[in-house]
Amino acid sequence: MSYPRRTVRGRRVGGGSRMGCTSRLVIALIFVAFGAIKFLASTDVVTNAYTGEQQRIQLKPSDEVRLGLASKDRMIQQHGGQHPDAKAQAIVDEVGQKLVAHVNRMARYGEPINYPFDFHLLADDRMINAFALPGGQIFITAALYNQLENEDQLAGVLGHEIGHVVGKHSNEQMSKSGLLRSIGMGAAVAVGGDAGMGGQQVGAVVNQVLSTRYGREDEYESDRIGCRLMYAAGYNPREILGVLHILKRAAGSGRQPEMLSTHPHPDNRIAEIKRVLAQLPKQ
Ligand SMILES: [Zn+2]
Repeated sequence: MSYPRRTVRGRRVGGGSRMGCTSRLVIALIFVAFGAIKFLASTDVVTNAYTGEQQRIQLKPSDEVRLGLASKDRMIQQHGGQHPDAKAQAIVDEVGQKLVAHVNRMARYGEPINYPFDFHLLADDRMINAFALPGGQIFITAALYNQLENEDQLAGVLGHEIGHVVGKHSNEQMSKSGLLRSIGMGAAVAVGGDAGMGGQQVGAVVNQVLSTRYGREDEYESDRIGCRLMYAAGYNPREILGVLHILKRAAGSGRQPEMLSTHPHPDNRIAEIKRVLAQLPKQ
């Protein structure tokens, strides 16, 4: 398909609205395909290096990365594969990496983690969505990309997803859910591979993961991180508001973006984002 509106930097990029988030199904399926990750029954309380939040989490950063990498291909398959437009993918990579270059400077509360971020433009031209897997795998669908009006808005989408990664939101939600203990796997559980679960247990994991969503505060936190990253990388953080307006329009047209079912209403996010923008120095 064509991307008539795509240009770069100040350029339009063709596509854009809100960022949908993690596909729980994919995360669940990761567990199946994955080689042994140990989930400890007792969670650790640690200070998030990027947000300062005290988090009760089970997965180490290296496990987050392995989970994301192990699930990446299935996520891509579920959304029609990688988008064939290599130039558009290159724009997504370029904008994503511009943001990544600044992300570790935001680690004001601990050592930066150096997540190996990787950005994927998916061929799916129906589901308006973007999402992040733990550890740095980030995705945006063509349906969303095609609505974005400029590169700054793309940075807004990707920055929000980076926020979910460094905020460790998947890790936190999975740890909170008691996911593995609830299916009777005991104090320590090895998932996938030779130590894999039976079909019934896999179904239980899928159900649990599907019922897990990021909290509202996770979404606002990702918006805050995204705005600050945009600013640090030289993008206009006000353009994130344009992304939310695109989402609202999509909802009004009856084409309910997936993101709207998984995120707070755009009006509430706009109000929060305006508060963050007011705190940023003038560009
Ligand atoms: Zn989100």
